[in-house]
Amino acid sequence: MKVCKFGGSSMASGETIKKVAEIIRSDADRKFVVVSAPGKRFKEDIKITDSLLNAYAECKKGKALDKLLAPIFERFVGIATDLGIQDKVDLTSVFKEIEQGIVASPIPDFAAAQGERLSAMLLAAYLGYEFIDAREIIRFADNGVFNAEYTNDLARKRLSDKQAGVVIPGFYGSTSSGQIRTFSRGGSDVTGAIVARAVKAEIYENWTDVNGFLTADPRIVENPKPIPELSYRELRELSYMGANVLHPESIFPVRKANIPINIKNTFDPQNPGTMILPGVLQHDRLITGIAGKKGFVSILIEKSMMNNEIGFTRKLLSVLENLNMSFEHLPSGIDTMTLIIADSEIGNKLQELVGGIREAVSPDRLEIQSDLALIATVGHGMAYKPGTASRLFTALSRVGVNIKMIDQGSSELNIIVAVSGEDYEKAINAIYEEFIN
Ligand code: ASP
Repeated sequence: MKVCKFGGSSMASGETIKKVAEIIRSDADRKFVVVSAPGKRFKEDIKITDSLLNAYAECKKGKALDKLLAPIFERFVGIATDLGIQDKVDLTSVFKEIEQGIVASPIPDFAAAQGERLSAMLLAAYLGYEFIDAREIIRFADNGVFNAEYTNDLARKRLSDKQAGVVIPGFYGSTSSGQIRTFSRGGSDVTGAIVARAVKAEIYENWTDVNGFLTADPRIVENPKPIPELSYRELRELSYMGANVLHPESIFPVRKANIPINIKNTFDPQNPGTMILPGVLQHDRLITGIAGKKGFVSILIEKSMMNNEIGFTRKLLSVLENLNMSFEHLPSGIDTMTLIIADSEIGNKLQELVGGIREAVSPDRLEIQSDLALIATVGHGMAYKPGTASRLFTALSRVGVNIKMIDQGSSELNIIVAVSGEDYEKAINAIYEEFIN
């Protein structure tokens, strides 16, 4: 049996939902369906989740909520009418309840979750499937941390005896006292993976609006080749580093049960998409894909005899811990250590961070460089193949890109380089030309 998750663009309108229903009905194994909230119908459109979050924020500033919810209500009424199910779901009373819920809610999660909830209600009504609320199966602790094992027990019990079809809203769950909590944005992918694990699906199909993963970002490389197969670990590296087809945390539930993920395109259902499989895949591909992110800062810390100073790294990292900041990389030399941190982590705390470092480790020199980009070249194929790094560096030097940092873990699954932000596109194209084209 299969679990299928449909993303926001698949659920965007009555017309696209009909395509979704066709896909589900074309295979009797597609019994468990997880959905996102309606996403964008066209480039300038607004995702329902964004409209709901905006309604929440404006309501807390004192604006009238009924006016803010009106366009959202209209959009769902439009979808229900297009599907011919306006009499099957009482949207007016659901929206009354949503309005009350948002007013009473001290956090945005309740509001954010309503798009998925309504989307699932409508699809369930259209298909004649059972609607099961994610609150019943996905559990968060009171502090908002997702409880994976408890959730798996709950979901298994609730779903295991289901013979007919079920539709479950993605993205949210609740605490044991019933308060709604969401995953981070794009989290319906995670819900799909949780359901797949709970029902021991033979496959987790993730239906989106592209034909799976590409070997590089199509906004940077012209017409990059698709990736037909990917391992779980390659997926983690690529999606963490910016290939955003799938939520990076989706892998954890399915990995526990060795369930393959198939990324498929709702608008091109015959395309095989990308298959994500456990283990190390055997083929002669050297590099699987290239991904990257801009917006990093490096902080070089130099101090003579740092290597002999017991506890130096701990003292340095405790500064980050106190500021609740995580770092990306920490390459070191004999007398130097460099912290690479995302701008988004630093926010407006750079002065505090630098002051803290000076106080904690008294460096001889501290140098900050901003506007860095990280690029990961990923593939199991590079392990034990001499010359991969040299080809990568040669490709970059050929186009005059200076490498600011190199990091290759001993797993030899990827090589990460930091380059200046302005060299980012050039560097990715050079690596693509060398290994993939
Ligand atoms: N609707 C949510 C978002 O826009 C979650 C999801 O689509 O997975 O992030």
